[in-house]
Amino acid sequence: MHHLLTKSTFLRGCQCVKSLYLNKYLPELKNQMSDSLESKFEKGHTVGLLAQQLFPNGIDLQKKYQFDYDKSIEEVRELLNQTNAIIYEAPFLYNEVLSVLDILVCENGKITAYEVKSITEIKEHIILECALQYWVMKNSSIEISDFNIVYVNNKYVKQGELDINELFKIESVLERILPLQDDISSKVEELKEILNNQVVPEIDINSNCDHPNPCDFHNHCWQHIPKYSIFNIAYLKTPKKFELYKNGIVKFNDIPKDYPLNENQWQQVDCELNKTSIINKPKLKEFLDSLNYPLYFMDFESFQPVIPMFDNSRPYQQITSQYSLHYLESKDSELKHFEYLAEANYQIDPRIGFIEQLIDETLPDGDILIFNISFEKPRLNEIAKDFPQYAEAIGKIISRLKDLIIPFREHYYFTPEMLGKFSIKNVLSALIPELSYKELEISNGGMAMTIYPSLYLETDQEKINTVRHNLLKYCEMDTFAMVRILKVLEGIN
Ligand code: SF4
Repeated sequence: MHHLLTKSTFLRGCQCVKSLYLNKYLPELKNQMSDSLESKFEKGHTVGLLAQQLFPNGIDLQKKYQFDYDKSIEEVRELLNQTNAIIYEAPFLYNEVLSVLDILVCENGKITAYEVKSITEIKEHIILECALQYWVMKNSSIEISDFNIVYVNNKYVKQGELDINELFKIESVLERILPLQDDISSKVEELKEILNNQVVPEIDINSNCDHPNPCDFHNHCWQHIPKYSIFNIAYLKTPKKFELYKNGIVKFNDIPKDYPLNENQWQQVDCELNKTSIINKPKLKEFLDSLNYPLYFMDFESFQPVIPMFDNSRPYQQITSQYSLHYLESKDSELKHFEYLAEANYQIDPRIGFIEQLIDETLPDGDILIFNISFEKPRLNEIAKDFPQYAEAIGKIISRLKDLIIPFREHYYFTPEMLGKFSIKNVLSALIPELSYKELEISNGGMAMTIYPSLYLETDQEKINTVRHNLLKYCEMDTFAMVRILKVLEGIN
């Protein structure tokens, strides 16, 4: 049986009809799938399988028929003629819309639908997806008595065996999806027309390009926007950027002189227009004078298992698995390096070895530099909360933290080459372009976060060694970059 739309293409079309069209007819224009998107996809799949255990011994039609929807649909009909049935991946087709429900439970003839999501909060686009699912089922003459979302309870703390009844929340959304049924009918017609029209819809870039999901045609649609444009103005809100764009203002020299930007934003614009940098020596000196040697340069890596792997952890909690620590006893002393990378072993909580070694290696005093305190500090606080035996020592580490992002974010040192971004990678490529992450096998935090958990499933020791080597090199680079950045600042008289 032919279908034109599915739940995911329907949602894509609700976000942007051009994306719907390109996805069907010009998929080669898509961005490459990023690591974080791939890992999001994997998370969804794992959660789906685990949630099936809430309703055990069902028939998995995906496994049985793969993508032969005709056979699956026929079998759903037969199973629903029985008084009791549990079906996983049950497809329904109506008006060229195919919709596959995660779990369908028929108990004494009463049918309840369950859609499983690896989310922790039900947002509007999920309600829309469920409303479509209900619409397809209802119009396929399935009488549904309730429609639920099964999603992840991020308050659940694992202690001992995984408790799936605590891990998942089940919430009825029937009352929210019933009023949307007419809108779904008209939206389906609109989207089908777009697909049948064979003309690329004329949609310009807009604030929906990243909402609710980052669009995978971004590179294609945004190619007319220069690498450095009004979209790079730091801390300028998205509606303001699009207000400028809609008025034909894309480059910095198009911005009207009376446009209400703040002082730092105007500095950013002026630096680009005049190709100048800001070096505020008194402020830089103040920052540098506030640093106390010996100095540590510290960086953490973590991963976020949706299903908690260790006791004392919640779904999606950041589990610190790695750090790099460079050490300078004084300005001119020899640079030393320490590091930690947890063994990927389900029996060992990586946070324990991580924090014990970190406490050992950051003794006895001196400031600890990090780049953007909003990542490392909360991780330390979480470990202190989950393992109170380390709280005192962690408190001492936290009291010594200093943030190397400050001189850049506060424009004590600002150059157009940073492209309005203050990440360590942007700052490094502006200050020391010859030192780059490009040569590394793992070149960003997203990759590290995805690759490390894959080690839990890897059995080939050679591959494990290679991945560990690459992870260590990546994290080491982050703190080495900090050392070099500080040296540049110290070299300014
Ligand atoms: S990048 Fe924006 S305009 Fe282009 S298809 Fe995606 S959402 Fe639509």
